[in-house]
Amino acid sequence: MNGIWGQFVGNLAFVSLAMSVWAQLSIWLRRRFVGHEKILFGLTAGVASIGSILLAVEFSPGIHMDLRFAPLALAGMFGGPMAAALGASLAIIYRVALGGVAASDGVVAIILVTAMGLGVNLLLKKSSPRLPHVVVLGAAVGSLLLVLMAVLPTLSKVHALAAMGLPMAAMNCAAIIVCGFIVLTTQHLELERRMLETAFSQSPDYLYVKDRDSRFVTVNENMIRLYRFKTTAEMVGLSDFDLHPPRLAEELYHREQEVMRTGVPLIDSLEHIEGRDLLASKVPLRDNEGRVIGLAGVTRDITERTALEREVRESKNLLSHAMSGMSDGFAMFDRQGYLIFCNEQYRSAFPLSGSARVVGAHISDILRRVVETRERLDFSYDAVDDWIDELSVTLHRNKDEEVQLQNGDWRSIKTRLATDGTAMVVVSDITVMKQAEIALRLSAEQLKNLAETDGLTGIVNRRAFDEAFVREAARCARSDTPLSLLMIDIDRFKAYNDTYGHPVGDQCLRLVSKCLLNSAQRSADIVARYGGEEFVVLLPETDEKAAAIVAQKFARLLDEEEIVHSQSEFGRVTASIGIASATGHVLQAEPSRLLLEADAALYQAKMLGRNRVLVRTLADAAGVKMAG
Ligand code: GH3
Ligand code: MG
Ligand code: MG
Repeated sequence: MNGIWGQFVGNLAFVSLAMSVWAQLSIWLRRRFVGHEKILFGLTAGVASIGSILLAVEFSPGIHMDLRFAPLALAGMFGGPMAAALGASLAIIYRVALGGVAASDGVVAIILVTAMGLGVNLLLKKSSPRLPHVVVLGAAVGSLLLVLMAVLPTLSKVHALAAMGLPMAAMNCAAIIVCGFIVLTTQHLELERRMLETAFSQSPDYLYVKDRDSRFVTVNENMIRLYRFKTTAEMVGLSDFDLHPPRLAEELYHREQEVMRTGVPLIDSLEHIEGRDLLASKVPLRDNEGRVIGLAGVTRDITERTALEREVRESKNLLSHAMSGMSDGFAMFDRQGYLIFCNEQYRSAFPLSGSARVVGAHISDILRRVVETRERLDFSYDAVDDWIDELSVTLHRNKDEEVQLQNGDWRSIKTRLATDGTAMVVVSDITVMKQAEIALRLSAEQLKNLAETDGLTGIVNRRAFDEAFVREAARCARSDTPLSLLMIDIDRFKAYNDTYGHPVGDQCLRLVSKCLLNSAQRSADIVARYGGEEFVVLLPETDEKAAAIVAQKFARLLDEEEIVHSQSEFGRVTASIGIASATGHVLQAEPSRLLLEADAALYQAKMLGRNRVLVRTLADAAGVKMAG
């Protein structure tokens, strides 16, 4: 029995060798005879099968035991229908020619085993077989052989199963696994090699391998294109001396020889060849003993990249040049609020906090310095932290501000947000403009005052009084409060003028207005020159009684002035006063009646002998009261 196992091992070696040779050959075949390798696989399987039969153990006369099934099953599995049919046919022809009692059983076994391999192939469909599939096939074929030895007539008659069923099945199974493994490994290696080759030849960089004398051993497609060759083979054996001017070739040669001599790789060295910027790396290649036998080179064309970098650098220079030349301050803050760029003008626009305005500083640090130096006048320094927080947040919002600095200067701060979240700040000196604006506002106010005051006495003039009267009448009507009006006329003033002269008359008018101002002292009271030597006093929220008190106070003050008037029956300057008071609907319906009634009261006061106060109430227009 040992002999049988021994013979089987010899048989296994032959079958494995045959499959191994085929696996290697198939790579070569695939490249040259695309599509024909299936036929050649079938032929090889058939020949291996026949070889196995030649080395068969003759178990009993005419009954041969061997490993013919392994190549056929694998031909079915790896090669598909074509290879299977070819392999099986060859094996069958030879088996039939060999003859013997078990010839027909042998043919049946060949057909069934091959069909089994083909079955696995069809089950796997498009996916490529892996080792577990091979093992399953081996086990299946082994089992099938055991069954066949039991059921096929000739084999069962000689008790083949009992005598050598196990070695037969086991060795065929083993042969399938070993040969399948060989085929798979070879295919896998070939796949890896092809991937590497593709990566090498299709790389966007320039790749090459050179021998010890700096001659090309292999180059990739890009290299061929660069030097305008058609095939890789044309460049093999050439050196840089065949491609470049002597001086450059010499330089490259020495650099490469240096790499190979020292064994130190050259990484990313910059080369300028034919107007292009190249980044070259050269790594020494060693044999198994560690001797340098050549070098592998990778060169990257960075011409476009360096051109782009140069462009960026130039535009950056241009920008900062423009920034430094502009009159305004300019600053950029990133999304987090850190200063990423600013010109000198931005710093000098804020002289006290300028030193904190440096690239890398955070907006809150800058504002803190503003607080420390009290540089800005536009905020209270009580809630400092809140102010800093608020400004830090609103930095990333579009806004226009005008702020005054401690030294009186004004700055306009315009903030605009870019799409990427950067805040761009333009600071302009608006001091001159602001000063002009303030001066303008001031003179407008002065002009308004001038228009509203009487030049001689400095009190409110007739025009301003008319406005105030309308306003106050409406207000008192709304709130249903009394409004009183005093109308004052100096007695015998024409004679005063005639006696003492116009300038003295003017002086007298000034004294009268002073006395009026001192009589009506509530802030809402309005003392106005109504015309010539006539005055009015408007007393909001004041009833007739209180108005009469004001009138009497005036009369007393005027009396105290003791202005001599020789032509007056009183010997001094006096005045007649008419008072009118109204409330509610009277004011609302006919505000002008207040004026008419005051005038009428004044007239009556004159009629009754001058130097007196007369009151008329509008609720009872007919009623006239005398006071004082
Ligand atoms: P009566 O007691 O009836 O009021 O007598 P009167 O002389 O005051 O009468 P009338 O109101 O007619 O006199 C007004 C005078 O006031 C005329 C004018 O000489 C004088 N007058 C008016 N405006 C001014 C002024 O601005 N300056 C001076 N000095 N006198 C003025
Ligand atoms: Mg008068
Ligand atoms: Mg008068």
